[in-house]
Amino acid sequence: MRLTVLGGCGVWPEAGQACSGFLVEEAGFRLLLDLGYATLPRLLAHVTADQVDAVFISHGHPDHCADLNPFLRARALRDDPPPPVPVYALPGALDAVLALDRPGMLDAAYVPHEFTAGDALDIGPFRAETRLLPHWVPNAGIRLDAGGRVLAYTGDTGPSPDVVALARDADLLVAEATYLREVPEDSRDHQSSARQAGRQAEAAGTRRLLLTHLRPGTDHAAARAAAAEEYAGEIAVATADLVVDVA
Ligand SMILES: [Zn+2]
Repeated sequence: MRLTVLGGCGVWPEAGQACSGFLVEEAGFRLLLDLGYATLPRLLAHVTADQVDAVFISHGHPDHCADLNPFLRARALRDDPPPPVPVYALPGALDAVLALDRPGMLDAAYVPHEFTAGDALDIGPFRAETRLLPHWVPNAGIRLDAGGRVLAYTGDTGPSPDVVALARDADLLVAEATYLREVPEDSRDHQSSARQAGRQAEAAGTRRLLLTHLRPGTDHAAARAAAAEEYAGEIAVATADLVVDVA
């Protein structure tokens, strides 16, 4: 299993970067996890839009799904449109982004697969488990199992035993870490810090930790250091074009 980071910025994209988006490849199958602001140009640096086999969106905030619109345009509006791509999302999560174009314009580009958090999904070669994780809007974390390797991704979440369960013995945990150590009071139940991500990776026995969704301007070395206060494994920060072989 191989993960390519399209973007790792939280909230809004920094210069030359993008918000949350990841390309996960296994046995020639290409799955996108989230398509936040500015992820489409990053994706197109690696593959064409029609080479993507499925899309999973964790939740409906635009820093996780805004570029679903240009992604679907890049499939629907070409001269030889590819078959519709399956798009997995919680009920209603994509209503806003799908309303950007006139009704029906992009319908032929995708097949919606609404699921309930907690469902198991078969997506190409991936066996996927989903869990509802605490956020301002419903957010589904996902655990992907394929080829004997496990990747877990939180989307956006406050600290929760469900994050630890999702990441149990995973080879790689991709964890939201908007803040370094302390999370502001009004966000404490809905977002995480790098230190909390490290604590949960340690509790889960995760082999490697990839911090993502850092607030723009956050020092990456400081984020790694905050996570390392709680986690003894290898820590990296998600930036565009980083490739991680999940082995
Ligand atoms: Zn969010």
